[in-house]
Amino acid sequence: MKSNNLNFSGGPGALPASVLDEAREAVVSLPETGLSVLGMSHRSAWFLGILDEAERNLRELLGVPERYAISFLQGGSSLLFATIPMNFATSVFARPEYVNSGYWSSRASAEAKRVCNSRIAWDGKPGGFRELPALHELAVSRNAAYLHYVSNETVEGLQFAVPETKPEVPFIVDMSSDFLSRPLTAGQFAMVYAHAQKNLGPAGVTVALIDREMLARIPAGLPHILDLRTQVEHRSNYNTPPVFSIYVLTLVTRWLRSEIGGLAAMQLINEAKARRLYGTLDAMGGAVKVHAGRPWRSQMNVAFTFGDERLDRAFIASASEHGIVGLEGHRSLGGLRASLYNAVTLSAVETLCEALAEFGLRHG
Ligand code: PMP
Repeated sequence: MKSNNLNFSGGPGALPASVLDEAREAVVSLPETGLSVLGMSHRSAWFLGILDEAERNLRELLGVPERYAISFLQGGSSLLFATIPMNFATSVFARPEYVNSGYWSSRASAEAKRVCNSRIAWDGKPGGFRELPALHELAVSRNAAYLHYVSNETVEGLQFAVPETKPEVPFIVDMSSDFLSRPLTAGQFAMVYAHAQKNLGPAGVTVALIDREMLARIPAGLPHILDLRTQVEHRSNYNTPPVFSIYVLTLVTRWLRSEIGGLAAMQLINEAKARRLYGTLDAMGGAVKVHAGRPWRSQMNVAFTFGDERLDRAFIASASEHGIVGLEGHRSLGGLRASLYNAVTLSAVETLCEALAEFGLRHG
């Protein structure tokens, strides 16, 4: 039988069981209003309270200073790939720079190229996207508009450490696949963004933390909906926001605060899960290959292969007998990928490791 607990999908993926229970109830009738959450007006006092709470909980969990605006946006991270250069790369003298470290950062830089004269600060493609650069050692122009990178490459399973110091050039970071998985020093970044469908909730909403200093650089004349000031000024209620997604995101932030005990505790759990899975894969010797080079292994996405498509497919079939789902690698890379987002429990990872060990024995 398939189970939400054993969903290792790259996203949308697993959500905490208690959140799913509350969301199920809310679809029929919200305890606070007696109405379905799906029919709640985005102008209702109830929803304005949810928006306030979502922002408050994120500020508290991540230690976000007041200097940063928090917006709940639509269009996914892909729309921000386009709107970030439209908003912040407006001077011909200050080009934005991009780190190409995998599938998603390459998508971001390709989009920027369509909008402005961006530059690639580092390219991991020739090396097959198996490693990451040291960000503070990159030769980035002092007057670059910003440096963009993806903190966790969801497809290849590569993850940057959180920078320890504030860089000279504004850092703009796509944290779609590791936001809320570990503590963050928000003050190091000019802007951080993450769509919901990994660690935050269902697809439909994208969170952006933006230093107000950056907002002051936005040129006049952009269409309102593409101008990042608009949702800040309208408290994420300029047009109809995805009420349900933002509601579930709020439930997830409550879960992180009260059941998990904050992001330092979440990080410890995530470290234990990743250690367990990588340990199992490493113990299988040459039978499996992890895509990422060791120092850059992600705690969120583990991309690996048995080195033979038939064996990869056979493992997916054998894991499904244990109720495990979502192990297919991304279409651009193939192979297998186990995503260990916040709601995937250590016990689910144990089940996956047992399935791997059993399969390894059977196939030598
Ligand atoms: N960035 C990263 C790191 C991602 O993993 C993804 C999708 N999985 C995207 C951006 C694209 O996001 P969206 O589908 O919300 O546009």
